[in-house]
Parts: sequence; structure tokens; C-alpha cells
Amino acid sequence: MSLIEKQLQVQEFVAISGQKDNTISVFIQSDQQDKLIGTENLWAVPGLVDIHTHVFPGCAAIGSSADTVGVSTGVSAVVDAGSSGWQNFERFLAESVHPSVTNVYAFLNISPDGLVSEKGELADLRRISVAKTVECARRHSRYIKGIKARASVSATVDTGIAGIELAKEAAMKAELPLMVHVGNGPPAFDEVLDLLGEGDIVTHCFHGKPGGIFLEDGSIRPQVVAARERGVLFDVGHGSASLNFSVAKQAIQAGFYPDTISTDIYEGNINGPVFDLVTTVNKFIGLGMSKSEALLSCSVVPAQILGIPRAGFTLLEWTDRLGKYFDSDGNAVSFRGAFSAKYVILDGLVFPL
Ligand SMILES: [Zn+2]
Repeated sequence: MSLIEKQLQVQEFVAISGQKDNTISVFIQSDQQDKLIGTENLWAVPGLVDIHTHVFPGCAAIGSSADTVGVSTGVSAVVDAGSSGWQNFERFLAESVHPSVTNVYAFLNISPDGLVSEKGELADLRRISVAKTVECARRHSRYIKGIKARASVSATVDTGIAGIELAKEAAMKAELPLMVHVGNGPPAFDEVLDLLGEGDIVTHCFHGKPGGIFLEDGSIRPQVVAARERGVLFDVGHGSASLNFSVAKQAIQAGFYPDTISTDIYEGNINGPVFDLVTTVNKFIGLGMSKSEALLSCSVVPAQILGIPRAGFTLLEWTDRLGKYFDSDGNAVSFRGAFSAKYVILDGLVFPL
């Protein structure tokens, strides 16, 4: 069934769900108070926001459609993290932002064509234009909420930190946050952290590669602690290679919670290990986060970071089912209890899932 066919009016939702007429207004009040309300099994959450996705199907082969990873899975707003740059952003608008029911935003890649060239997008810094990136971000400020760069050797090749410095310069000029992908250096994680300030975002914070948030003695890297103290944000960005259960569990046990839970979803991981945002949230509840903390970090918190209006509500059902979940490194955990998305209410329409 297509999304359009599934659209129902709010009154029909009330009839289907058996809720009384005033239920919707109760949810709205709850949203305004920044509180999550739930009965034993049904939770109403301000519209889920996935702050790291790839929803530019025209971009190489990796992008998913925004509605496939968005409203169809209970998510009302997605941020495309750097699939496009200033050269192809208008195509991204036409192909992804405008046709989608899901609200779509972007972190504009410092690479002029985003991730179209797939790997090594920061290998030749002569391609980078800070001025054109800033100009594009200003012109499309309704949709562009940050700048993106990949700080791993597959992107930088032999240019080290220089491309990330250009991205930071563009972000400062555009007065936007910088989201940096971290993975296998160079550049080293500490070098990247030293560049970042309040509101900037480290994505893939719980990857299992060398040089992550923990030192070899098991303590949290001092630069990570200092970065968090000055307001740098840490995002999950699960992806195909960037969530390790042992690292995430160690972090949660140490009280180092992610600021935002996101998927880094694209065609290569939508059939596992990522699947969707709610599955990613279930993993973090299984690893030790409370339901409320996990849900806030994929709804209210990312909406605040992005400065976007809250978009509707997601109704989630908590059931006792036993689930087996995989991280990006093939490790499995099983635990009982999981959310599943039941309805999205967006722009006055109800989408049963
Ligand atoms: Zn990504």
C-alpha cells in the first residue's frame, strides 16, 4: 500500500485506536511540555528525528528514499548527512526534499559533490570551496542545518586534518554546526576533537575501530571529556561499520550517554544490521539506557540541536518480545522488550504503520 493510500484523518485514528477524542490534544500538551507520556504499552513521542541518514537516491548507489527510512518507519524528520554538496544540492532538493512526506533536512558536505565520488572526497583540496559552500548554506537555510565532513583516511587519503579545517571554517562562516564522521585516521581523533566547539557533532561515537573514545586502559579519552564539557555533541550514527556493542555498553556503564541516537541508514544497511531508527533505539535500551532517555535522544534533543519545529508525533508500542540484535561488527545481543512504531501523526494526517 502506498503512503497516500495509508493516510487517514485524525478522526479515523481515534476510531481505530479506540482512544477518546481528547487523546490527541493530550499528546499535544505533552509535547509542549517536553515530556513523554505513556500508558503501560503505548508511548506518544514528539515526532522522531534521525539526525544521520543518507536519503539522496541519485547519489552514487547508497541513498535510500526519505519516506522509506522516514515516515514509513515512524520517523517524521530525517537529516541527510553530507550526501550532497554545493554543486548538487539543488538536485537533492528536487529529488529528495520536495517530493517527500517526511521532513527532510541536510548537513551540506564540504565536498562539492557530496559523496557522489564515493571515496576520497577530501583527497584533492583544490576541489573545496568554502565560499560556495557558505553561500549555498545561506541560500537554503530552511533546509541546511549544518556542514558535514568525513575525518577518516578513506575520505582524506593523505591530506590529514586540512579538509576538516576547511569544513570548520565554512561552518563558522555560515554560523552552523559541523558534523564530523570519525573512524580510521588519519586524522587522529584528538586532532579532530580539538577543532570542534559548542554545538558541533561527532558522529559514529561508538565505533569499534582503533583510536575511539576509550584509551587502552579503559578510561575515556581526556579530549572527549573536555569536548563534551565545552558543548560538543556525540551522535551514534550506527551505519554498516560504526556501532560496536562493547564500546557502547562500556560508555553507557561509565555514564557517557550519546546526545543523539541516529542510524546512518542507507541502502547498504537497511536490511541489517541497522534496519531503522526504532530498532537502533531498542539496541540502546537493551544496552542500558532508560526508555525515556533513549526516546528523547531521537526526538526532542535532535529537534533542539537542529532548531527545527517539532513535526507531529510518533506512537510506539512497547511489547515484551525477545529480540536478537547485531552491531556493525557482527556481535549479537539478545534481550526482552522492544518498541515498535504504530502510527505517525504528521501535518494532521495519521499514518498507520
Ligand atoms: Zn553517514
